[in-house]
Amino acid sequence: MTDCCSTPGLTPFDDALGQLLAKVEVMTRTTTLPIEEALGRVLSKSVVSNINIPAADNSAMDGFAVRIEDAVNGAQLEQVAKVFAGHPFDGVIGMGQCARIMTGGQVPAGCDAVVMQENTLTQDNIIIIEKAVRSGENIRRAGEDIAQGQIVLGKGRCLTPADIGLLASLGFSHVTVFAPIKVALMSTGDELQTPGKPLNIGQFYESNGYTVGAVLQRFGVELMNFGIIEDDINALKRAFTQADAWADVVITSGGVSVGEADYTKTVLEELGRIYFWKLAIKPGKPFAFGFLPDSYFIGLPGNPVSALVTLHQLAIPLLRKISGQEQQPPLRLKAVAATNIRKQPGRMDFQRGVYQLTAHGELIVQLTGSQGSGMLTSMSRANCYIVLEQDRGSVQAGDTVMIEPFDRLLL
Ligand code: AMP
Ligand code: MG
Repeated sequence: MTDCCSTPGLTPFDDALGQLLAKVEVMTRTTTLPIEEALGRVLSKSVVSNINIPAADNSAMDGFAVRIEDAVNGAQLEQVAKVFAGHPFDGVIGMGQCARIMTGGQVPAGCDAVVMQENTLTQDNIIIIEKAVRSGENIRRAGEDIAQGQIVLGKGRCLTPADIGLLASLGFSHVTVFAPIKVALMSTGDELQTPGKPLNIGQFYESNGYTVGAVLQRFGVELMNFGIIEDDINALKRAFTQADAWADVVITSGGVSVGEADYTKTVLEELGRIYFWKLAIKPGKPFAFGFLPDSYFIGLPGNPVSALVTLHQLAIPLLRKISGQEQQPPLRLKAVAATNIRKQPGRMDFQRGVYQLTAHGELIVQLTGSQGSGMLTSMSRANCYIVLEQDRGSVQAGDTVMIEPFDRLLL
C-alpha cells in the first residue's frame, strides 16, 4: 500500500508486526512449579479459585457484632461472647445480646452488622449503642474479594509478585506454567571480536550478543549463546544446524543488510525458508524472519541500536506469542519536546529520549544526543523512545510528541 507519505518498498511497522505475529505459534511444553519459583513465568491455563475469599463474613472493625433490629440509638445490649480473628464463636447471638468482635473475627450467627467500638459505651457487660448501624455495616462479606469458581488469573498471564501472593491466598502451593522457550543467539561478522581479547586492525568489539542476551535474560528464556560466527556459508550452516537442533528460536544479528544478506539468505533458503523486510522504521530498516526445520529464525540488523530496537519492538512481541504470553501494548504517553527534533517523513522513528516531569506537572522529553544507529550511548542514556509517526516531519521545541517509557526489559 502506498500513500502520500509512505516510502515505496518499505513496510510500515504495524503491518510488519501483524504479518510476523501471524507466522508463529505458541509452544506447548508446560511444567508445574512451586509458586515461589514461578515469578515471571507464564500461566498455561487459567487459575480458578476453589474457595471464597474471605472464607466467611468477618468484621472490618474492632467493635460489637449486633442483630440489626437491636442496634438502635441508645440500646443496651448484653455482651455474651468475644470473637477474635481465627477464633469463631460457635453459638448464636440472641435478641438483646451482642458479641465483642475484633477486626477479621468471624461474624457470629444471628448478627447482621458491627458497631464500631468508638460508637459504644461499656458498663460491665452491658454495651450501650450510641450510633445505630445499617444492615451489613462494617462486615466484609464471604467471597467479596474472590468468589469460589471465579477465574482469578488468565491463561497467558506473566506472574507478578502480587499474583504469587494471590495464588498463595487461594491455597495453591504449585502452579502450571509454560516451559521457558529455548533461544539460540549468534552474532555474525568477520569484523567482530569478543570483549576481553585484543582488537586486531579493522576489528570491533561485538556488543549485540550482550545487549540482546541481557534483554532475553530479563524476558526469561533458556539461552544458548553461540558467540561470533564468521561471514562464511559453511560456518553459518554449521551454526544454524546446531542451533536448530536445540532451540525453539534462533536469533542472529548482522548479515541481513544488502550485500551481506546473501550468506544468511543462501543458508536459510537451503535449510528452510526466509523472508526479508525493509521496514519503514528508523533505526532498524533490515529485518529477517524465517523457518529452520525445527525452529523459528529471527535476523536482527547488525547496528547495535537497530538490533536492540528491532529486538524490543518486533522480536519481543514474537517471543511473547511463542512463549504463550498475552501481548502487552506498550505504554505511550504525550510529552512536550524540549528541543527541536529532525525527521524526514516516510519512516517511523524510535528516537531515544529522557523524559521527566516538570515542577508544573508537565511531561517533557529531550533527545539523548546523536541518534546514529551505531551509537549505543543514545540508548544507554535514554529512559524512553520518542515515537515519531511515519508521516511526520521535523518537530519544533514545544510540539507534543509521543513517548514510550522503557519497560522492565530495557531499564
Ligand atoms: P551488518 O548488518 O552485518 O552489515 O552490520 C552493520 C553494522 O553493525 C556494522 O558496522 C557492524 O560492524 C555492526 N555490527 C554487526 N554485528 C555487531 C555486533 N554483534 N556488535 C556490534 N556491532 C555489530
Ligand atoms: Mg555483518
